[in-house]
Amino acid sequence: MNDCLPRQSSLWQKLEHIIRNVIGEYGYSEIRIPIVEMTDLFSRSIGEVTDIVEKEMYTFKDHNGESLTLRPEGTAGCVRAGIENGLLYNQEQRLWYMGPMFRHERPQKGRYRQFHQFGAEVFGLEGPNIDVELILMLSRLWYELGIDKYIHLELHSLGSLETRIRYRSVLISYLEKHIDLLDQISRQRMYVNPLRVFDTKNPSIQNILDNAPNLSEYLDEDSHKHFISLCESLDSLGIKYTINTRLVRGLDYYNRTVFEWVTEILGTQGTVCGGGRYDSLVEQLGGKATPAIGFAIGLERLVLMLEKLKLTKVHRTVDVYIVASSKYATLPSIKLANQLREEIPGLRIMNDFSGTSFKKQFKRADRFGAAVALVLGAREVSDMTVVVKDLLSGNQNICFQRDLSVQIKKLVNKKINVDINY
Ligand code: ATP
Ligand code: MG
Repeated sequence: MNDCLPRQSSLWQKLEHIIRNVIGEYGYSEIRIPIVEMTDLFSRSIGEVTDIVEKEMYTFKDHNGESLTLRPEGTAGCVRAGIENGLLYNQEQRLWYMGPMFRHERPQKGRYRQFHQFGAEVFGLEGPNIDVELILMLSRLWYELGIDKYIHLELHSLGSLETRIRYRSVLISYLEKHIDLLDQISRQRMYVNPLRVFDTKNPSIQNILDNAPNLSEYLDEDSHKHFISLCESLDSLGIKYTINTRLVRGLDYYNRTVFEWVTEILGTQGTVCGGGRYDSLVEQLGGKATPAIGFAIGLERLVLMLEKLKLTKVHRTVDVYIVASSKYATLPSIKLANQLREEIPGLRIMNDFSGTSFKKQFKRADRFGAAVALVLGAREVSDMTVVVKDLLSGNQNICFQRDLSVQIKKLVNKKINVDINY
C-alpha cells in the first residue's frame, strides 16, 4: 500500500479532474459507497473460484463476529447500494465511482494491495448501443489524457448462460486431453468453472489454450446479434479493436460483451481498464432482473502511463511566487498577494518569508513550478510598483501594483498553455 506524496498528488488531482469532466459530459452521476462490505456480497457476485475470492480478499471478523471484507472492486457494492436504495427498479441509471480497492496480491509495478479505480455502471439498458457509448466515452478519455495512441481495445462476447453451459462440456473435454500439462490450479478449476482456466498467467497453459475450442462458435443467436451490432457500430465510429477469443475477465458475473483496454508500454501489467455486461447480477443479488454494463480503470496504471509518456513534467503548486527583501517588503508582499487573490479568484500564490538572497528565492519559485515571480524591494514598495518576471521566457518589466492583475492573467495562461498537457 502506497503513500501518495505531494509531488504526485497534483498529477492525481489533474487526472481525477479530467475523468470527472469527461464522465460528466455523458450525464453520469457520482455514487459514493462504503469501503467495507459483508464478505458474502463479494463471494456471491465475483465467484468462489476466482483469483480475487480464492486468495486476494482482505477479510476479517468484526466485534459482532460478522465477516467483513475490504472491497476488492466496486461493482458488487454499487449493485447492492442500487438495490437497497431503490435506484434500479424499472429505472435507467448511469453511475460512476472513484476510490481505493484492496487485494492481497504480490506487490510489483502496476500491482498494489491498495489501488484506486475509477468505474462506471449503467443499469436498465439492454441493447448494444450503451456498450458502444461506453467504449466511445473511454476512447474520448484516452484522447483527453493524451494516451490514445498507446492503448488499444480487446473485445469478446461471453454469450448467455446457455452459451456457457453448451461450451463448458466442449472445453472440459479439450482440457482433459491436455490434463498432464495443466498446473494444479487449472486442474482444480476446470470442473468447477472451466472458463476460469483462461485466467491463467502461466504462459505454457496459455499455449494450450491457443488451440482450445472457440467460445464465439457457441454463442446463442441473440448474443451473436448483439456482438455483431456492437462491432459494426464501433467500425462506423472509427474505433479500432481486436477480437480476443481468450478474453474472459477475472470475475464471474460477466456475460455477452467483455472488453479490456491494454497498453504495451507498461510491460506485463498492461491492462488499464476492464469491463463488460453483467445482465444477471442485479437479480442474483436480490433485485429485479435488470440489464447492466460497466467498467473499471486502474488509476495507478494510468498514472504510470502518463509518467512514462512524460505527460506530467510540470509539477506546479503555485502560479505566482513573491520574492521579497525581508526588511522592507515582507508585509507589503503579504498585502499584495491578498490583493491578487481577490482580483483573480483561484490564482495560487506563495510568499517567500525566508529573507535569503533573491537568487535563492528564485530557485524556490522554480521548485514550486511558478509561472511568474514578483519582486518587491524597498524601491518598489515606495513607488507602489513591482517587478514582474515571466519565468518561462525570462523577460521582466516593472508594473504599477494597481495594474498587476491584467498582466498576471495573461502570463499565467500563457504558461499553462505551453507547459501543461491538460
Ligand atoms: P489483472 O489481470 O491485471 O490482475 P484484473 O482482471 O484482476 O487485472 P479487474 O478486476 O478487471 O483486474 O480490475 C480492473 C482494473 O483495475 C485492471 O485492469 C487494472 O488496471 C486495475 N487493477 C486490478 N488489480 C490491481 C492491483 N492489484 N493494483 C493496481 N491496479 C489493479
Ligand atoms: Mg487480478
